[in-house]
Amino acid sequence: MNNAFVISLDYELFWGIRDHTAINKAKQNLNGTRIAIPLMLQLFNSNGVKATWATVGILFASSKKELTSYIPIEKPNYKIKAYEPYQELDAIGENEEEDPYRFGFNPLMQIRNTKGQEIGTHTFSHYYCLEDGQTIHDFEADLKACVKISQDKFGSKIDSIVFPRNQFNEDYLAVLKNVGIKYYRSNRKGNLYQENAYLKANNKWQKLLRFIDRYINISGNGAFDINSIQIHNDLVAVPASRFFSPFNKKLSIFEPLKLERIKREMLYAAKNNLSYHLWWHPENFGTNINKNMEQLEDILKHYTLLKEKYNMKNCCMNEF
Ligand SMILES: [Zn+2]
Repeated sequence: MNNAFVISLDYELFWGIRDHTAINKAKQNLNGTRIAIPLMLQLFNSNGVKATWATVGILFASSKKELTSYIPIEKPNYKIKAYEPYQELDAIGENEEEDPYRFGFNPLMQIRNTKGQEIGTHTFSHYYCLEDGQTIHDFEADLKACVKISQDKFGSKIDSIVFPRNQFNEDYLAVLKNVGIKYYRSNRKGNLYQENAYLKANNKWQKLLRFIDRYINISGNGAFDINSIQIHNDLVAVPASRFFSPFNKKLSIFEPLKLERIKREMLYAAKNNLSYHLWWHPENFGTNINKNMEQLEDILKHYTLLKEKYNMKNCCMNEF
């Protein structure tokens, strides 16, 4: 196992925000996401950079008919009804052409056809592992649906998972092993980045401090040594280092600080032979596409320099 620069993206379209955003408010951004994904892939390709795309399992389906055939019998019965994913079926279109917000197989094919990109899972239904009402059995059924649809559509197994909303439930790790998943993204070290149930994670202070930490160093450098990470039960935790927050138009004056903060953390990792794991959602690039792409290009160029100077490697989550 080598230390490396890692990128993971949570690909989810409407499924990642449907509990708190109306579809009409999301459409413009989701249309932009479909433009941003091939641009991102082009940039990854031209810079020879690999990434892991943790994909909501529903997005493997090409039609409503196909999707419904994979829905598990055991479904999460969340206490907060807004989280229940399958109520969305009443509104969903027949296929991707009719409903490009809830279906996403074409972008997934673009990802799959780009060299060096790993397709992981973000659970089948954007599953919330710390919410009341759901059980470990529901979670296992959800992941089994992911494994099956990936096998059926691509003939490939799934190695890596990113937990929706970063809701990490230690008790559920055994399930990963049962379904053949070995790598998971864990949260950045330190109290500031630990997730509790969603309501707690909305703690205002925690949110504010995380926001400030994007620009100014209040939580350290985010680098980690993969070789010193404990492997439990044959599972490998790949900690996140930083959320690559999208271009903020209102606070654009601070954008250079944000980029500088990321680049410094990457430099620290490269100099000390450590790993650095940047993550975001392709949906974050769906608005202000050009600005976001410019920033990504800047970061990938920086990585190239670090590769040349410090021999920093780059790999997918499943290559650790
Ligand atoms: Zn998500």
